[in-house]
Amino acid sequence: MLFADVIPDISVKALDRPFQYKVSDELKDKISIGSLVKIPFGNSNRQMEGYVINLTEEPNFDISKMKYISGTVENSITPMSRFFKLAVWLKHTTGSNLNDAIKAVMPVKMQIKEKNRTYLKIIVGGEELKAALETAEKRKYVKQVEFLKILIDIYEKKSGEGNPFVLDDGYIDFDALRKRYLLESAVLKSLEKKGLIKIYQNVIFRNPYDGLSESLPNENEIELNDEQKNVCDKITELYKSIDIKNPSTLKPCLIHGITGSGKTLCYINIIKEVVKSGKQVIVLIPEIALTFQTIKRFTAAFGDRCACMHSRLSHGERYDQYKRAKEGLIDIMIGPRSALFTPFQNLGMIVMDEEHESSYQNEYSPKYHARKVAEYIAREEGALFVLGSATPSIEAAYKAQIGEYHYFTLRERAVNGAVLPTIWITDLREELKRHNRSIFGAKLHELILDRLQKKEQVMLFINRRGYSGFVSCRECGEAILCPNCSVSLKAHSDGRGNKILKCHYCGYETAFPKTCPKCNSKYIGTFGTGTQKVEKMVNETFPGARVLRMDRDTTSVKNGHDKIIEKFSKGEADILVGTQMIVKGHDFPNCTLVGILAADMSLNVNDYKAAEQTYELLVQASGRAGRGDKPGDVVIQTYQPDSPVIRCAASNNYRDYYTSEIKRRKNLQYPPVSHILEILMLSPKEEELKSFSDTVSEYLKRKSILALGPVEADVYKINNIFRMLIYIKGEKEEKLERIRDGIQDFSKNYLKENSIKNMVIQYKIT
Ligand code: ADP
Ligand code: ZN
Ligand code: ZN
Repeated sequence: MLFADVIPDISVKALDRPFQYKVSDELKDKISIGSLVKIPFGNSNRQMEGYVINLTEEPNFDISKMKYISGTVENSITPMSRFFKLAVWLKHTTGSNLNDAIKAVMPVKMQIKEKNRTYLKIIVGGEELKAALETAEKRKYVKQVEFLKILIDIYEKKSGEGNPFVLDDGYIDFDALRKRYLLESAVLKSLEKKGLIKIYQNVIFRNPYDGLSESLPNENEIELNDEQKNVCDKITELYKSIDIKNPSTLKPCLIHGITGSGKTLCYINIIKEVVKSGKQVIVLIPEIALTFQTIKRFTAAFGDRCACMHSRLSHGERYDQYKRAKEGLIDIMIGPRSALFTPFQNLGMIVMDEEHESSYQNEYSPKYHARKVAEYIAREEGALFVLGSATPSIEAAYKAQIGEYHYFTLRERAVNGAVLPTIWITDLREELKRHNRSIFGAKLHELILDRLQKKEQVMLFINRRGYSGFVSCRECGEAILCPNCSVSLKAHSDGRGNKILKCHYCGYETAFPKTCPKCNSKYIGTFGTGTQKVEKMVNETFPGARVLRMDRDTTSVKNGHDKIIEKFSKGEADILVGTQMIVKGHDFPNCTLVGILAADMSLNVNDYKAAEQTYELLVQASGRAGRGDKPGDVVIQTYQPDSPVIRCAASNNYRDYYTSEIKRRKNLQYPPVSHILEILMLSPKEEELKSFSDTVSEYLKRKSILALGPVEADVYKINNIFRMLIYIKGEKEEKLERIRDGIQDFSKNYLKENSIKNMVIQYKIT
């Protein structure tokens, strides 16, 4: 008889262990390790799903009481066995439960058959369409006339702005059109025969960016400069000398190259060698930089041997990419952190671009950092791990310093004649003294006028969207809070010109109050400067300038991000106003001025990484100016012009910044020199949470473990769930892992003994 250990698909700590089931004879051949199966669970025999993690002929308890597996889940995907090992490792290092870890390593769980879908593209000009319409009208081909009118309409609206039938790159969704207009496939075919359109089946799923490569400069022919050649040669050599039995040959490589120095070009060249050797490559990109600019370049170099995964793909599209990887139909997978779990047969390299990006941290259970997981996977599979950044994270730079990473630099901008921009610092306190209350200091104002006149482009960067726009009373000082979350509501416009208040955590909305809810004063208003407000002030100060705004509001629509970028790069706007999003990896040769409106905002955040994040933002933002052959300017406006971070960023002095930052981290025992275990406790019951966190704290005292807290989290209440934190610092990660396991055991028992439910504990070690 066969028995299966099954992990139920349910994220409850108490149930985070395998349960044994009997396997009936008829299921025997259908089940293997990794299968998703249906099981009766608990006293009520509720039907659930679970993963088989072990098969054995030895039962580990009374067979007569053991239940049978009820069946397999149809069309489920069985993960490769190495992904199970990875899940166990993830559970161990992050302190998550096994079920969450299994889910994380399987970004695609089900086989989904996408129906055959039909797309078309218009392949002639407007004149030809109109001529065809005339002919059809003359001959009274009613159906063709209707279809052609729709096509002309789409054509005139160009890339389909606001047209729901037009997808990326001009693909027109015929199935959607047909729902609306009762069109027939026969008409479609006849228009194709006439040479007006081209029909595609499912191509978009095969490669979402198909067709783009035609319009690309061919980078395959670019000759590497000496610096780039040196980096590529050395890393390729390291790749070729990998010996999986000798871990020292697997030391990761950090490329520290200023923006525009050609890091991406280097990756492409190194990847070519890896692909030539018959192995596959995962290229990690921060989600936000995953625009078609990046994908275009890879597609141009590797054609349809490269695919991409991102959050905007449908389940069917994801499954398709997953399958292509598993079947060896592609060599390269580009994607955000979840692309780490691409099921390649023979992984040769993992590239992590913009390694410093905070989006590489997974904020849900399992709370992993992609850098650490990539390091582990690369080591396990004998692959080379290559990281790149213009502003390496302190952690990666520290590893390079202590010899855990190889270190390479690219110091020059690659494009002939492209030089680093001139950087101006504006002291906002001085501006105020001179009675300039506008958000534009004198220098920025002057340079914007200059660029508008020269028909060059400008980017205005605001440090943090969430920072501003909160509403408070000038008489009693009260801020207006969300009833569900303990954060202040932000002022917004609802798109119809009405002012509303909105919660950025739970989405709660309410009308803008006329008087203060507390003291009834009429003097309530917004403070700080949000993107909408900057947009408005740009319009007022520079009438006639065409302004685009990029923030979470304008990018939340499908492909909103790409569309704004495309518009700006086509020169359809003079000024782009935006948050963090605009500083990531885009190339706008005609943009020669970058204004950073309040550079020090993020310095005031209560986080040991505040300085690191500010430095990164300033350097990345400055890197956007003058990428082409025209010289650029950057204006940094700040209230703290003497802050070392701002001064180092302005002079692009990474070394001084790193030295002072690592010294501070050493003194304060912060990562990467030391490590921190963060224990986040969540519960809808405030009293219970407080007393529980005190209990954990007492437990730690009894064990003589030095801890900080319990303290209320930065945002204490989200969606009516309260949040408390405890921090423990330690020199060794392993020691913190042991402490964490101890807390886990202790709290499991404590919660059980006191019948406390709804308490969630999450751990994160950095
Ligand atoms: P990074 O990734 O470091 O920001 P990129 O690889 O995007 O740099 O390169 C910036 C621009 O310079 C790209 O348009 C690229 O095609 C171009 N480029 C890179 N290397 C060279 C070179 N050796 N010769 C000419 N152009 C180059
Ligand atoms: Zn008031
Ligand atoms: Zn809320």
